[in-house]
Amino acid sequence: MTKTIILLSGDGIGPEIIAEAKKALLAVAKKFKHSFNFDMRKIGGESIDAFGIPLTDDTIAVCKKADAVLLGAVGGPKWDNIDPEIRPERGLLKIRKELGLFANIRPTKLFPSLKSACPLKNDIVDSGIDFIVVRELTGGIYFGQRETKKLSDGQIWAQDTLGYSKNEIERIGHVAFEFAKTRSKKLCSIDKANVLDSSKLWRKVMEDIAKDYPSVTLSHMYVDNAAMQIIKNPAQFDVIVTENMFGDILSDEASALVGSLGLMPSSSIGTGKFGLYEPISGSAPDIAGKEIANPIGAILSAAMMLRHSFGLEEEAVAIENAVESALSKGFKTADIVSGKESPISTSEMGEKIVQEL
Ligand code: NAD
Repeated sequence: MTKTIILLSGDGIGPEIIAEAKKALLAVAKKFKHSFNFDMRKIGGESIDAFGIPLTDDTIAVCKKADAVLLGAVGGPKWDNIDPEIRPERGLLKIRKELGLFANIRPTKLFPSLKSACPLKNDIVDSGIDFIVVRELTGGIYFGQRETKKLSDGQIWAQDTLGYSKNEIERIGHVAFEFAKTRSKKLCSIDKANVLDSSKLWRKVMEDIAKDYPSVTLSHMYVDNAAMQIIKNPAQFDVIVTENMFGDILSDEASALVGSLGLMPSSSIGTGKFGLYEPISGSAPDIAGKEIANPIGAILSAAMMLRHSFGLEEEAVAIENAVESALSKGFKTADIVSGKESPISTSEMGEKIVQEL
């Protein structure tokens, strides 16, 4: 199989971790006799430095023609005080919107060899942590009208608006129900329907869609309770579906359960096979350039690409098993070592995983 993959390494640790994900993809290509062509483009701060904007039309066009996109992270202190309209994060929001990627899939799975890195009590950990968050990605408060103004009494006033159309809720709902069908057929929809109109519509649409999926059991939970339940009893969850901001916050919370933000992959998908794959972490400026970032989130994002965009299940599982195998042999980066374990560098971690492949 021949595929074209666009690499958008971005800023901070982005280039370090994407280099390791590329190594894993090349190893898979060699082992399973595929051909992956890589094309490196710029996004975020590196694009601002080169072109004055965080994402160019040319980069969008190249991504649209490719089979999949692998992204590192964007942002950093260097660009914190520039015009908000061209901040690095705008590049990320724009590429998701331009590519029609409205669903963000974030698996939260605790590797058996990282049980000690989970901050929860042993009895909770032993019940298992393995769920996915399906987060709406191109609507809600991050895309609603925003405004900051000075009122007549001199006060500064700001607002953001959270709105969803029925269609936007329906399409993310179908993605979540389809995932639930392939797992344990339990879907929990998270909202704030006791307060927000957008959540009331969200809940009604989810109930309506549920009629198309009789094999899936739908439940609802308020977001404040969900934030607590993810800590108290994560084993109750299998597939979670929620709106953009709730999903952003809950999936970062979930990342703490698996030991490190650096372990968490994600995919952003639309209606077809095309997808953009990225670790959920940011550009981690505090550790950028030190060769200590954990590349596993990026490598597992590449596995998600193989599975979803290319239909290569065996190859995806090979990467996931190689990660587990390297970890179980005690190879760990600084963010996940415990006790007397010595950390290895970003590229050493990548190499150990490639060796397991
Ligand atoms: P962050 O995710 O970059 O870092 C949070 C903490 O996690 C830091 O201590 C960092 O060192 C650690 N961390 C993150 N990834 C790691 C990895 N792979 N290995 C080991 N440790 C890791 O979040 P932040 O500090 O709030 O944001 C930094 C910059 O990233 C900001 O400019 C922010 O806007 C941007 N950001 C980008 C994205 C994205 O590109 N998707 C997401 C979130 C934040």
